[in-house]
Amino acid sequence: SPGHEGILRRQAQRESAARTYARSLPIVPVRARGLTIEGADGRRYLDCLSGAGTLALGHNHPVVLEAVRAVLDSGAPLHVLDLATPVKDAFVTELFASLPAGLAENARIQFCGPAGTDAVEAALTLVRTATGRDGLMAFSGAYHGMTTGALAASGGARHTAVTRLPYPYDYRCPFGTGGARGAELAARWTESLLDDPKSGVPDPAGLIVEPVQGEGGVIPAPDAWLRRMREITAARSIPLIVDEVQTGVGRTGAFWAVEHSGIVPDVLVLSKAIGGSLPLAVIVYREELDTWPPGAHAGTFRGNQLAMAAGRATLAHVREAGLDRHAAALGARMLARLQALAAVHPCIGDVRGRGLMLGVELVDPEAEAGPAGDLPADPGLAAAVQRACLDRGLIVELGGRHQSVVRLLPPLTLTDEQAEAILDRLADALEGVRE
Ligand code: PMP
Repeated sequence: SPGHEGILRRQAQRESAARTYARSLPIVPVRARGLTIEGADGRRYLDCLSGAGTLALGHNHPVVLEAVRAVLDSGAPLHVLDLATPVKDAFVTELFASLPAGLAENARIQFCGPAGTDAVEAALTLVRTATGRDGLMAFSGAYHGMTTGALAASGGARHTAVTRLPYPYDYRCPFGTGGARGAELAARWTESLLDDPKSGVPDPAGLIVEPVQGEGGVIPAPDAWLRRMREITAARSIPLIVDEVQTGVGRTGAFWAVEHSGIVPDVLVLSKAIGGSLPLAVIVYREELDTWPPGAHAGTFRGNQLAMAAGRATLAHVREAGLDRHAAALGARMLARLQALAAVHPCIGDVRGRGLMLGVELVDPEAEAGPAGDLPADPGLAAAVQRACLDRGLIVELGGRHQSVVRLLPPLTLTDEQAEAILDRLADALEGVRE
């Protein structure tokens, strides 16, 4: 339709050169429900981008719409900075009830500007104030956001105050071994940097980690390695900040991804799904860290009542419907089918994931393998697969250190039939690019 083409053309003319998703996904969504988006051209797509993992319940879930409508119809204010309201009270009560044991008992919450990156900044300020130290430890391939502190903590960036640590990555193991041995060597690297006075690494104010690297290419951290990180930081009184912006609210098959390993973080960074598709970001942390002064972290948009209502409804629905367990079971079935696909497509170097956070790493099968048996990333092929998926009505996102990982982040409400349809289209797209 002219609407579709005209809108895309005007976007290309008027919007920033830095725009991202719009380049690889030239669609104009006008309606959406559950897994499905409908474009202005009338085409329908299965949406496995889900607002970069935001839409735990898919688009426009009835419980979210009802919760938002109830606030709109009640005459309650839509925005009141960080003042106390019944809507906020209900959200915090629901969120606190969901927290992992060990943190639930003595948690504090700080509402942040509505993006995940702002919550990361708050976490950094919190631990710097509490410890009186400045440095930060973060991991290769990490993604924590686009503001200065969060960006510095992200893998691609370099910042003097940030010490970069190796993240266990089975397929491209920095130590050339993969498996438990690779993870153990990564843990020892961290220990040796902290313990060797000649390493030049000052005592850090905190260590920040994603339980599954999302933007970094869907790389789940081994549970044993996360427990080692908890031990190492606890023994040295270094606050452990776990960034669950993408992994939280059932995404990985547990309500919080830290539950897989059983570690208790000092600070939990939350955004995306906790706002039920509306902007919301918070940090939840151990009470003892609460030594920062009033106003240490502020921001006008910390009081979005609609997001809190949508978030409360989402958290409650995931809990009541057991969608975290559903994500674990369905994700495992999808992973098995992806493994079967990898067996017949040499261009799939690796498939991995946890729950409904899945990744397919595309490689050049003709090239020479690396020390751990890994093949060079093929971002061109990944882009072609993404395009072929879109042509078949499937929206997927790319990620990874080389943008060579096809990422699937479907809603947790996904049915078996929908999962099959997604994988059928992906399989067909892979066949298509091979021809
Ligand atoms: N942390 C993680 C783990 C993320 O995945 C993201 C966003 N993809 C962020 C932080 C930043 O969140 P936002 O884009 O809302 O600033």
